Amino acid sequence: MNIQLPSPLQKLESPLLTEKRVDLWMKRDDLIHSEISGNKWRKLKFNILKAQEKKTNSILTFGGAYSNHILATAAACSLNGLRSIGIIRGEETLPLNPTLAKAKKLGMEIHYVSRADYKNKDQDWFIQELREKYGTFHLVPEGGANYYGVMGCMEILPENQNNFDIVCCANGTGTTLAGILLSAKTDQKVLGFPALKGGDFIRDNVNHLLKYSLFEDEMITDKMNQLSLETSFHFGGYGKVKPELVDFVNGFYSEFNIPLDLVYTGKMMFGLFELIREDHFSVGTKIMAVHTGGLQGNKGMKERLGIELVF
Ligand SMILES: *Cc1c(COP(=O)(O)O)cnc(C)c1O
Repeated sequence: MNIQLPSPLQKLESPLLTEKRVDLWMKRDDLIHSEISGNKWRKLKFNILKAQEKKTNSILTFGGAYSNHILATAAACSLNGLRSIGIIRGEETLPLNPTLAKAKKLGMEIHYVSRADYKNKDQDWFIQELREKYGTFHLVPEGGANYYGVMGCMEILPENQNNFDIVCCANGTGTTLAGILLSAKTDQKVLGFPALKGGDFIRDNVNHLLKYSLFEDEMITDKMNQLSLETSFHFGGYGKVKPELVDFVNGFYSEFNIPLDLVYTGKMMFGLFELIREDHFSVGTKIMAVHTGGLQGNKGMKERLGIELVF
């Protein structure tokens, strides 16, 4: 399957949205590719170019056993003729879960490290050891959270006529949020929905990532003022699911025919609809919610937790 860009922008229609007079659109980055979905493609694009430019022809990256980023990296490297190495947190469990089985099939070399060792993944000596083991590679941090990742995410907003008042996005590392914020017009607000508990750390991450791209502190302050976070829609933490979230995601599919993932976009849309119901947005507000993809993760959820989804 080829990369489908620009991704479609889809208007959502429902009695609630009509009643509240909120204009809501979804940017369907989940449709970019079946395996390199959503923001993972955006974050990898310039990293792939960098790996090709460096002639290392290899990418090494990190992630958990169900990571969307790991699978996306495996698929993107396979598509571009690059070698991929995935450093996975935790012990190997057989049979491989659907994410790792697919990554392996796509040619990724998988290397497991204990949870304790994984904590060293950003240390120079640890990376040096990996270089001795695997040779040269372009290193992509966990979640694609680097400057090239931010650059790729700056391409989301300008793809369509961009006259939104508010742009919403689910957050893990805040890389996608940083890219959206950088490309947002000065009168636009950007609203982040962290998928993790204690999501305020996203603000520091975004601030840190902006420092690579904007050189004046004043510009960073202006950008940060356009950002707000809704930190209460984490449902107990990363990868945690509650029945009301599953019901919402199933109901959302029935109403709009759009599948959501349970880790990120399901929580964001749940939160966004709650805010809309509570009249958080003024009449006539035009909102874009970015569907960052991640649908492959539902398979692991179904398997591990026995969750029933209607799609
Ligand atoms: C990885 C992922 C995110 C988090 O993106 P960050 O740039 O790390 O904040 C959001 N949504 C989905 C579907 C993802 O897979």
